Amino acid sequence: MSIYDKYEAVIGLEVHAQLSTKSKIFCGCSTQFGSAPNSNVCPVCLGMPGVLPVLNKQVVEFAIRLGLATHCSITPTSIFARKNYFYPDLPKGYQISQYEEPICQHGYADIEQEDGTVKRVGITRIHMEEDAGKSIHDMDVDTLVDVNRCGTPLLEIVSEPEMHSSKEAHKYLFSIWQTVKYLGICDGNMEEGSFRCDANVSVRLKGETKLGTKAELKNMNSFRNVERAIDYEIKRQIDLIEDGGAVVQETLLWNAEKNIATSMRSKEEAHDYRYFPEPDLVPVVVDKVWIASVEKILPELPNARKKRFVESYKLPVYDADVLTQERELADYFESSVNQLSKKNDESVKSVSNWVMTDVLRVMNDEKVTIVDFSVSPEHLGAMVNLIMDGTISGKIAKEVFDDMLKTKEHPKAIVERKGLVQISDTGAIETEIDAILAKFPNEIARFRGGDAKLMGFFVGETMKVMKGKGNPKVINEILRKKLG
Ligand code: ADP
Ligand code: ZN
Ligand code: MG
Repeated sequence: MSIYDKYEAVIGLEVHAQLSTKSKIFCGCSTQFGSAPNSNVCPVCLGMPGVLPVLNKQVVEFAIRLGLATHCSITPTSIFARKNYFYPDLPKGYQISQYEEPICQHGYADIEQEDGTVKRVGITRIHMEEDAGKSIHDMDVDTLVDVNRCGTPLLEIVSEPEMHSSKEAHKYLFSIWQTVKYLGICDGNMEEGSFRCDANVSVRLKGETKLGTKAELKNMNSFRNVERAIDYEIKRQIDLIEDGGAVVQETLLWNAEKNIATSMRSKEEAHDYRYFPEPDLVPVVVDKVWIASVEKILPELPNARKKRFVESYKLPVYDADVLTQERELADYFESSVNQLSKKNDESVKSVSNWVMTDVLRVMNDEKVTIVDFSVSPEHLGAMVNLIMDGTISGKIAKEVFDDMLKTKEHPKAIVERKGLVQISDTGAIETEIDAILAKFPNEIARFRGGDAKLMGFFVGETMKVMKGKGNPKVINEILRKKLG
């Protein structure tokens, strides 16, 4: 048993989702990413004296959506608070956030574990807040400040300290990511920082119920970095304790290039935020009617959709998992399936295979989203129809698919233009097979002597002379009859 097995890691995540509203949370400025520095600003988000914030109703609606999707209770009257700290990218000197009475409380996310069992991770709270600006340090000149992001709406989702490995943390984070994207409230872009996560990590001896001292990891801008940083930190803490030391409460910055975490500030340097209720905003009142109206427009959520894919399309769990990762991909799959002239287990599974292998591969290679994918779901479905009715073989379909990628033509048009129609005519195939069998008497003898693998050889040879257009089913049947 290694020393690491004596310990249990405890992880709690604080996730920030930037909301995809057009305007900021307390003013009418645009939230557009990539605008010229310091162009999307006004007296309100710059914190000029005497101006008053006005809450963007859409932000509250988005918060309710996420709250309902994560089984939270929606607080009937929630309030904003000022979180005071000094930093160059925060012109007001305080951030408007929620402290006591956040809008959503006591929810959970269900994540599937390796062994198939479901683990429920508690969500302590979800609150609304405004983002700060950005300081740009990596310049030869002094630090630059861009305050465009000031006042961009965020939801902070705080989990219970209930995860015990980097894998679990990853799964939980993915579930939140998937949910905000399904809900259409956040674009989930971790690289651009519109979906961020801080990880709180502590360790304790197995069996111990008291929590250990935690360290907080920041600056991980991908799922992979979140996992790596957590693993690094768990090991660091255990090594430290085993060496007779003690974990101190601190904030660490993950360095993705060096694969290490470095201390940003210790507990002594921690901010005292002096939270107090925001005097410029009235409490947010959410009544039952509003909640019910939001509930009505909620889309089918990832876990439900996955379950439906398994049950109604008879797909393996693996397929359902891959296909429902993103809402748009699941939509693409279902639109393709709707094109099938004969919807059965075989044709549906074929669509699933095409989406999971060829479509995802090209999306990955060419860095395109499914929304911009050049083969429409109508054309993919039509292509699978051609396979199912025997017009083309699966092999020819690869050629048709590649052609569709480039030309965006209907698969039928491509098959006609290129003369790719599959030959299923028994007589024609038999003629070819007779010629091939005449060429390979030794192989026939070996096959009859028990070398069953040679079947593949004969099929391959036939396909070669037929330029891939022979119907493999018919070829197999005739060969089996002749060699049997
Ligand atoms: P803080 O006051 O330092 O922000 P909170 O109690 O608000 O701490 O918790 C912040 C996050 O840290 C939550 O996600 C929580 O689950 C997690 N957390 C709290 N204590 C621990 C601990 N000892 N180990 C790991 N995670 C923890
Ligand atoms: Zn503004
Ligand atoms: Mg906290």
